[in-house]
Amino acid sequence: MKILIKNGRVINPADGLDKVMDILTEGDRVKEVSENINAEADRVIDAKGLWIMPGFIDLHVHLREPGFEYKETIATGSRAAAAGGYTTICCMPNTKPVTDCVEIVKYIKEKAQKEAVVNVLPVGAITRGQEGTELADIEGMAEAGICAVSEDGKSVMNAELLKEAMLIAKRLNIPVLSHCEDKTLVKGGCMNEGKHCENLGLNGISNDSEDVIVGRDIILAQSTGARLHLCHMSTKGSIQLLKEAHLRGVKVTGEITPHHFTLSDEAVDGKDTNTKMNPPLRSKDDVEAMRKAFKDGIAEVIATDHAPHSEEEKNKDYKSAPFGIVGSETAFALSNSVLVEEGYLSPLALAEKMSLNPARILGIEKGDISAGNIADIAIVDPERVYKIDSSKFFSKGKNTPFDSYEVKGSVEYTIAGGKIVFEKGKINDN
Ligand SMILES: [Zn+2]
Ligand SMILES: [Zn+2]
Repeated sequence: MKILIKNGRVINPADGLDKVMDILTEGDRVKEVSENINAEADRVIDAKGLWIMPGFIDLHVHLREPGFEYKETIATGSRAAAAGGYTTICCMPNTKPVTDCVEIVKYIKEKAQKEAVVNVLPVGAITRGQEGTELADIEGMAEAGICAVSEDGKSVMNAELLKEAMLIAKRLNIPVLSHCEDKTLVKGGCMNEGKHCENLGLNGISNDSEDVIVGRDIILAQSTGARLHLCHMSTKGSIQLLKEAHLRGVKVTGEITPHHFTLSDEAVDGKDTNTKMNPPLRSKDDVEAMRKAFKDGIAEVIATDHAPHSEEEKNKDYKSAPFGIVGSETAFALSNSVLVEEGYLSPLALAEKMSLNPARILGIEKGDISAGNIADIAIVDPERVYKIDSSKFFSKGKNTPFDSYEVKGSVEYTIAGGKIVFEKGKINDN
C-alpha cells in the first residue's frame, strides 16, 4: 500500500521540519518527504490546511482488559486511541488480575495483535498484585515485552521495595512510571483541598500528598540512576521539583494531562462525578503552573490517563464514584485549544510532547516521520471549531467533563504502520 499525502504542513520535531510538503508512504515506512512528489499511489490524501505530525504516543492509558471489559477492552480502547491520533499506547497494569507476570503480559500482547488497531505496549506492575509487599517478576515481564513498570493507581509506599525495583529497571533499561501519591496524606479525599472543597463540604486532597512522593522518587532515581517518569503532575510543587532535578542531571521526565492544564477545581460542583479524578483538578495557580511548565520546557510529555468507567459507576454520589475520566479522543483538541492557541507551545513543540518525547522515554524507534521511519502519522485540522460529543466516542467510557465543550482542532486521519486506521470519524478495521 502506498499513500501520498499532498500539501500538508509537515511538523516533525526529530529533524525540526515545519514546512508545507508532501509525504509518500510505502508498506509500513515513510518513503519520501519533499515538495511536489509525483508518484503513483493507492490513496492520495489532500492535506491542504492540515498538519501532518508523527502519530501520537500515549504513555498512560487504562484499557481495563483483562477483568473490567465492561469499562473498556483492548479493541475499544485502541479504537478510541486511533480516533485521537494515537498510534502507540501504553496500558497500565491495574487490571484484574494485575499485569504482574509473564502470562498476563503475553495475554495482552496476543489480544492486541488480534484486536487492536494501534500499537499497544503493556506496562508491568512493580509489586505482585500491586499490593506493595513483594516485587513482581519484572525481569520475566521485560523479556515478554513490557515497555515500562508502574504501580499506577497508587505509589509503592515502601521506599526500599521501590529502590530495589528501580535498580532492576535500570539494569533492564526500562523506565519507571510513577503515580505520586502518599496515601497516608489522602485520608479519603475526593477533590482538591481548598475553598471550593470546603464550600462543598467534601474531604480535600492536598498538594503535598503528591509533592512528598515526587521528592522521594526523584531522590531514589538519583541514587539508583534509574529513569523515572512522573505520571500526571498536577501541582506547582511537582513542577518545581522536576525543574530542580533536571538542573542536577537526574534522569527524570514528567507528563501532564489535558484536564490538569485545562480545568481547575472551580469546575467541581460536587455532583458531576466526571470532574472526579486522581490527582484531582487543582487550583487556578496550579493550572497556570502546568501551562507554564510546557512553555518553559520543564514538562516533556502530554499523556491522557484515559480511565474509562461505566455510567452506572460514575452515577454514584461524589464521594463514592470512582476516580478517572476518558481522554484519548479529546487530547489533541484540548492541547491545541489551550497550549497552542494560547501561545504556550508551538505546533512543533506540541508534536514533541505528544510523540517524540514519549518515544524517547520508551526507547522505541517512533515519533519521527522523516524518510525511512515507520509510517505512524496523525493528520489534524488545527482550525476546525466544534463541540465535543461524548456519545460519538469509540471508547466504552463516556465519562468526560468536556462533553459539549467547545474546542479548536480535530484529528482527520490516523495512519499506523502505513495503514489508514482512522479517517474522518470512521475506524477502518480491515
Ligand atoms: Zn495514576
Ligand atoms: Zn492512570
